[in-house]
Amino acid sequence: MRDLLTDPLWRAEDLGHAVPGAEHAVSVCLPLWEHVIGYEENDPAVVGRFACGYPRFFLHPRVRELFAVAAENFARPGETALVFPTAAAASRAAEHVRKKSGAACRIEAFGHHALAALVLPESAREPAWKRWQHGGEIVGSRQAEAALSGAEGAGEAGVAARETVRRHLAELYGQPAGNVFLFASGMAAISAVQRLLAPGSPAAQIEFPYVDTLKGLNEFGFGAREIMRSATGGVDETRALLAAGPVAGVFTELPSNPLLRTADLAALARLLTGTGAPLVVDDTVATAVNADALRHADAVTTSLTKLYSGVGDVMAGAAVVRASSPFAAEWLSALAAAESESPLYGADAVVLAKNGADFFERAGRVNAGAEALFDFLAGHPKVARLWYPKTETPDRYEAVRREGGGYGGLFSLLIADPSGARRFYDALRVTKGPSFGTHFSLASPYTLLAHYRELDWAKGRGVEPHLIRVWTGLEPAGDLIERFGEALAAA
Ligand code: PLP
Repeated sequence: MRDLLTDPLWRAEDLGHAVPGAEHAVSVCLPLWEHVIGYEENDPAVVGRFACGYPRFFLHPRVRELFAVAAENFARPGETALVFPTAAAASRAAEHVRKKSGAACRIEAFGHHALAALVLPESAREPAWKRWQHGGEIVGSRQAEAALSGAEGAGEAGVAARETVRRHLAELYGQPAGNVFLFASGMAAISAVQRLLAPGSPAAQIEFPYVDTLKGLNEFGFGAREIMRSATGGVDETRALLAAGPVAGVFTELPSNPLLRTADLAALARLLTGTGAPLVVDDTVATAVNADALRHADAVTTSLTKLYSGVGDVMAGAAVVRASSPFAAEWLSALAAAESESPLYGADAVVLAKNGADFFERAGRVNAGAEALFDFLAGHPKVARLWYPKTETPDRYEAVRREGGGYGGLFSLLIADPSGARRFYDALRVTKGPSFGTHFSLASPYTLLAHYRELDWAKGRGVEPHLIRVWTGLEPAGDLIERFGEALAAA
């Protein structure tokens, strides 16, 4: 496999290359700004080159084949099929399709593990696809491969690997292993927690979150009241919401993606006590190594696809419930059921357990490299704005930073002039594509990638259209500084 630490995928000719160059890679190379736009416009000259993509947004060839076999087996003329990990996940998609289009779906047992085919009119595919994307209850490429060939899963090795990851996370979070639940993706963990909320009332979302967290609340739940760029860490606004009516729960990220802001978790937890509204924190960006969200949150969600895995060849997510939360008793049984409905596939667990073994050590190295790169960029005249937890709402981040923890590997930057941003991105000698958390650095014009059809909406919330998000990998800091210096010279 090409060593992306020293030989990144960044040139025009690398378009569509799997990132990393592995059969089950979860990212794809988008080396130039125009390729990102081509991807968003579904330009065949761009997507036609994709070896794979981010699995919730672009079907891996094996998964595409699986969908085709399901359609062949179950669809009548004018119908199509998607495959979900279980009948429960498929029926949630069917319900979403019915709500959005009025169309009725059929659910058929696929005949491999618990896989379930959702069969529906071709004209109603879009809402089913949105459920796959934002709900995160997906079938991964390893499971698709096994289902297509009739191979057995990982069996006992998969069960053991899941327990290894569960115990590892329990230790990192300081919670019993029984409070850790593993899912097919980070979004599957988030949507499982969102389904725990009391129905009927909107939730609150503090700070601009990862795109699908908000889509989950708005599309599958009872909506979200947005609290963006709060001067009080979300506290005053949440207090006002509570005074106006019931709030189903409060969601925020530690820190938020891509603006790296942190809410006032301690004050929010105090404010929510006795209201029936839980505090749920997604700590994917900081990770449990750097920050302790469960000091205040009732539950944490985290995408293990990112730094925990580090390799970028497996999707996974976790939800961890704080044992002392008043919601714990009810949530533990509900999440155990949810976990079985979009489980972490055995063969994926085996890969994840192996990848995650050195998570703690890697996280520390990433912190050091990112801070050095940030310090270089902070003094550079061509960088108009930088977002990083060390400087964004720093007091609130420090309040939950662990002893010995750092600021993580993610930051966002703005080059003042949009055409300069494009030149910077095109010239940047790091791997370019969706996702983060990898051993190697990974950059993307994040707003274009995540919010292409709602750029004005994002801009109104402080997320500039030409913002570039950078993940700092394990390359020597001096090397990264040189590469960023070159790209800035081109900007
Ligand atoms: N939370 C955050 C902060 C993220 O950035 C992401 C994905 O990028 C997720 C959750 C979702 O995780 P996954 O892609 O594993 O479903």
